[in-house]
Amino acid sequence: MIQIAKSKDKFYLTTAIPYVNAAPHLGHALEFIQTDAMGRYRKAQGYEVALVTGSDENSLKNVHAAEAQGITTAQLCEENAAAFRAMADAVGLSYTDFVRTSDRKAHVPGILELWRRVEKSGDLHKKKYRGLYCVGCESFYEEGELKGGVCPEHNKKPVEVEEENYFFKLSRYEKKLEELIEKDELLILPEERKNEVLSFVRGGLKDFSVSRSVERAKGWGVPVPSDASQIMYVWFDALGTYLTGVGFGTDEKRFKKFWPADVHVIGKGILRFHAVYWPAMLLSAGLPLPKRVFVHGYISVEGQKMSKSLGNIVDPMAMIGKYGVDPIRYCLLGGVPTFSDGDFSEKELVAKNNNELVANFGNFAYRTQKLIEKFYANVIPSAKLDADDETQLAKIDEYAKKISAEMEKYELRRGLELLMELSSSFNKYLSDREPWKNEAKRAQTLYVSSRGLSALAILCGPFLPFTSARMRGALGIKVALWEDAGKELVKPGAKLEAPEQLFRKIEEKK
Ligand SMILES: [Zn+2]
Repeated sequence: MIQIAKSKDKFYLTTAIPYVNAAPHLGHALEFIQTDAMGRYRKAQGYEVALVTGSDENSLKNVHAAEAQGITTAQLCEENAAAFRAMADAVGLSYTDFVRTSDRKAHVPGILELWRRVEKSGDLHKKKYRGLYCVGCESFYEEGELKGGVCPEHNKKPVEVEEENYFFKLSRYEKKLEELIEKDELLILPEERKNEVLSFVRGGLKDFSVSRSVERAKGWGVPVPSDASQIMYVWFDALGTYLTGVGFGTDEKRFKKFWPADVHVIGKGILRFHAVYWPAMLLSAGLPLPKRVFVHGYISVEGQKMSKSLGNIVDPMAMIGKYGVDPIRYCLLGGVPTFSDGDFSEKELVAKNNNELVANFGNFAYRTQKLIEKFYANVIPSAKLDADDETQLAKIDEYAKKISAEMEKYELRRGLELLMELSSSFNKYLSDREPWKNEAKRAQTLYVSSRGLSALAILCGPFLPFTSARMRGALGIKVALWEDAGKELVKPGAKLEAPEQLFRKIEEKK
């Protein structure tokens, strides 16, 4: 049996909160789409879902980017936060909250509370410090962590900084973190990333700076309560978004309902912040820890790292404008490995669109509806089923379970592959039965195919939500719960809308 959530069960997931120092790129789109697929899957399982995203605005690099453009930091954040929100909407990210970390009403009160709690635990102390800082990462580096003297993420030489800051007693949580991660109480997916974190923790944890001088922060950010000379470190305040997004500091009832997060979705470059610093801060504040951290890889374009200097940054909005949103979702969820680095190319996107979405899924849907239109005036025929029909119908529940099993392991690509296998099996059933000439078996074949369509309309929802909505509209299906996929949602006698192609074939580039 498929496990269905009790109506009171909640599921809370987050995307990372991107810095808004530049426009969104395809890597952000990948993360938003992965998070959304998980969220929609949970919703189809009957959970009440909260999904928080937002914009990380209190960073030094936003200050620098604004200076370079000759505008105020507030202006830069305003414009770029709007661009991220537009992208979230365009890819279909079904967020419940979009937190801007500059929001004095929704975000800052909770962050001040978080600071006070950590302070009360005795985990903050002020000291003079000298270190190497990468503004790109908004992080200090040890000499030994640099590669040839430059930051491994940005290939840039860090700047030397000396000032008096507040430090967080990370070392105090070393043993506790090791134990929680080892036992998967804080589950890090995939295993490879878990091992990476464990070896970092076992290497010994050093206390880290959680504030900046007002001068170095250029006055931008959340002020430290009770010390006007200091601004909170951007990561302290950005990580807190996961709390404030569900009401910490402003709506205690909502916070109690949704916290702890069920999954934080992040890229591999910020693993340490999420799997070490963040849980330690929560332990210090006396708050429950998130249950999982899902770590995706980086996306390259035609074999090359996306970069400004190479001029190969792919704008997801342009791709969506050109090809439509679901083909992009399909390509990122199905073409890129869920847990490791992957590559994107328009050539591959066109091939996957044409060979898989059009030739398999779209072809089955269109032929089924076209034949029902031709022979039954768009009305689902009633029919007596034979053993082969029953075998075909049984595949729906079988695949709903199989897809579910993969989604429970967060294997999104595998889940999508299975969905396409189910579609392919119905496509083959339809072709083998030849209902256009086999009059004797026509009604039963088209009835079974219509059941395949309604099942696909529900099961494709997490991956291809816009296609799912169109299909459910055409079939007149009101429900969208996973457990309904195998049911007779469209009964004989029901009238369908006129057939329409779900996907369009794209001309191959010469
Ligand atoms: Zn860096």
